[in-house]
Amino acid sequence: MLKLHREDILMLRCPKCQEKIIKDENRYVCKNNHSYDIAKQGYVNLILANQKSSMSAGDNIDSLKAREHFLNKDYYKPLADSLIMLANKYLDDGNVFLDAGCGTGYYLQQIINGSIKDINFYAVDISKKGVIMTSKKCKSATCFVGNIFHLPFEEGALDGLMSVFCPYSNEEFSRVIKKGGYLFAITAGEDHLFQLKEIVYETPYLNKEEGYKLEQFDLIEQFNVTYNMDLKNNEDILSLWRMMPYYHTTAKEDNNKLESIDRINCIADFLVSVYKRC
Ligand SMILES: [Zn+2]
Repeated sequence: MLKLHREDILMLRCPKCQEKIIKDENRYVCKNNHSYDIAKQGYVNLILANQKSSMSAGDNIDSLKAREHFLNKDYYKPLADSLIMLANKYLDDGNVFLDAGCGTGYYLQQIINGSIKDINFYAVDISKKGVIMTSKKCKSATCFVGNIFHLPFEEGALDGLMSVFCPYSNEEFSRVIKKGGYLFAITAGEDHLFQLKEIVYETPYLNKEEGYKLEQFDLIEQFNVTYNMDLKNNEDILSLWRMMPYYHTTAKEDNNKLESIDRINCIADFLVSVYKRC
């Protein structure tokens, strides 16, 4: 039986005219001759200048470096393991799966390594530096710079999509995920990093724990991944804090309270939600 090569089943479309784009040596091109070069690092830029405006604080290079440092220590491996479990449970051979907001590529790399199925992996992020990091880790994935609110995919192109601590779009996700396809969403659990918040804030609050508010999707599975992390040195603690959204909304003197902490036991608490496109 002829095995389809990854490039033969590309479902990307041109961000300018929405026609299908196909791979042509070192570029992607549509029938209207809009062309997108594949960078030497292996990714392609599929974002239009006017779609770059939603750049968030999480995309800056310091935040990416903090994430790279912290995640590479495998403190979040139990979360990655549950994503691997979901991929093996819900996806099938030949499926198309997108990491929408891939960041540094840590979770996608884990899924690729742990997948028992033959999946066509895609990764998108608005941060070019994040996509380059992902592209280095995930050689078998098609990685592109793009905006999750304007995904360059055909309608119903995806069998699965994951969204890990990222913004989401009901409209765009329901357009690109086919009927019967799956969305894996990761959000913060109630207790996530409470021990760090106790140090930084006078009145720390529990997180408001919630999944995504979606139409055209049914919630079919939801559980918490909760465990204790032994954060062993100040660099790990600061890296974790700097990759959190709180860091950017907290006063400098409060963030600095973590500078003198060298070891702490801290709860990691994630809400894992699986939605099925109906
Ligand atoms: Zn075009």
